Amino acid sequence: MKEFTKERTIKMLIEKKEEFQRTLDNSKKKFKEDVNRDYHAMKTHTADMNLASTINNGHRIKTLAKIMVKFDLAMERVNNGTYGICTECEKEIHPDRLLQVPFTEYCITCKKQKELKKTSSYAT
Ligand SMILES: [Zn+2]
Repeated sequence: MKEFTKERTIKMLIEKKEEFQRTLDNSKKKFKEDVNRDYHAMKTHTADMNLASTINNGHRIKTLAKIMVKFDLAMERVNNGTYGICTECEKEIHPDRLLQVPFTEYCITCKKQKELKKTSSYAT
């Protein structure tokens, strides 16, 4: 990666990770509030239960938690010099993609292929 020096990449990863961490913290806070509200609504039979939103938020927290792990893995790849290289086809990942999804381990081609596989396995 010519565009990214190691220092810049680490700085970018830390900044983005903090951003995600804040979102994760907010989601967790909201999840707690949601659960309390749903529990209260269940006990009092009031209509303000919103399980769908609670469940959605739960999924969001799971996804965000996974992303946090990906950030740590990306940081490891920076340290061993493999950051920005697709773990699937070992080609360079486009810098624009790294700026958008700094924790990614796949180039856009491999990512698309993986998503395609995912979708077709859902369909069967
Ligand atoms: Zn690839």
